[in-house]
Amino acid sequence: MTPAAGSRPTGFRAVFLGAPGAGKGTQAQTLAKVRQILHLSTGDMLRAEVAGGTELGLRAKSFMDAGKLVPDDLIIAMVEGRIGLTSAGKGPITRDWILDGFPRTVPQAEALDRALARAGMALSHVVFFDVPSPVLVRRLSARWTCARCGAIWNTESKPPKQQGVCDHCGGSLKQRTDDRPEAVGQRLEVYERETAPLLDFYQSRNLLRRLDANRSPDVVQHALIQLIQNGAI
Ligand code: AMP
Repeated sequence: MTPAAGSRPTGFRAVFLGAPGAGKGTQAQTLAKVRQILHLSTGDMLRAEVAGGTELGLRAKSFMDAGKLVPDDLIIAMVEGRIGLTSAGKGPITRDWILDGFPRTVPQAEALDRALARAGMALSHVVFFDVPSPVLVRRLSARWTCARCGAIWNTESKPPKQQGVCDHCGGSLKQRTDDRPEAVGQRLEVYERETAPLLDFYQSRNLLRRLDANRSPDVVQHALIQLIQNGAI
C-alpha cells in the first residue's frame, strides 16, 4: 500500500535526495531559513551526537568515519523521535520540515512511510538533486565546514573571503573526516548501492522530481523554488 495515499499533503514535508556533495544540505539550509521551517539533517544530528559523546554518537562514529551508513534501527529511532512520529503512533506532526540525508535506504523510506501513514500524513515533495559523479568527488574534496556555526564553504564554488575562516562568524573551517579522499569513494559507492534505489521507490509513487543540481547554488535555489511553487506534487 502507498501510505497516506489519497490524503492530500497539507504542510511542507519534503525529502531531499541525492548523493553526498549534491548540495542538498546547502539548499535545505537556505530554503528552511526562507520558509521558517525545520531542516533536519541526519548527518548534522549524528555529528552533534558524536560531539556530545552520547551513546548513539559513540555507536555511530566508526560507521561515519569509514563512510558507511549507520544502522537503520538507530537512524529511524532518531528521526522519528525528532519529527514527533513515535513508533507507538503517538503525537501529531506539528511542524513542517525538510529531511536532508534521510531516508538513505529502502527500509528507512518504508519506515518513514509507515510513520506518516499512522499520522494520516504524506510527503509533499521529494526532490532529487542530480549531479554527475566526477563533479561530486571534486565538490566533496573542496568542502569545508565552519566549526562554530556550521556554514558550508567550498574552495571551488563558494570560497570564503579568507582561507580557513568563516565569513559569517569568523570561526575556523574544518574538513569533515568523511570528506577526505579515502572516505569519499566509499560514500559514493554506498550511495549507489543503498540510496539510489530510492529514486525508483519514489518514482513509482509518482513523488519524485528531478533537479539539475550541477549548477551554482543560487541557480539551483531559484530552480528549487520554481519547482516547489509550480505545485511540484
Ligand atoms: P551526511 O552529512 O548526510 O553526508 O552524513 C554523514 C554520515 O552520517 C553518513 O556518511 C553516514 O555515516 C551517516 N548518516 C547520515 N544520515 C544517515 C542515514 N539516513 N542512514 C545511515 N547513516 C546516515
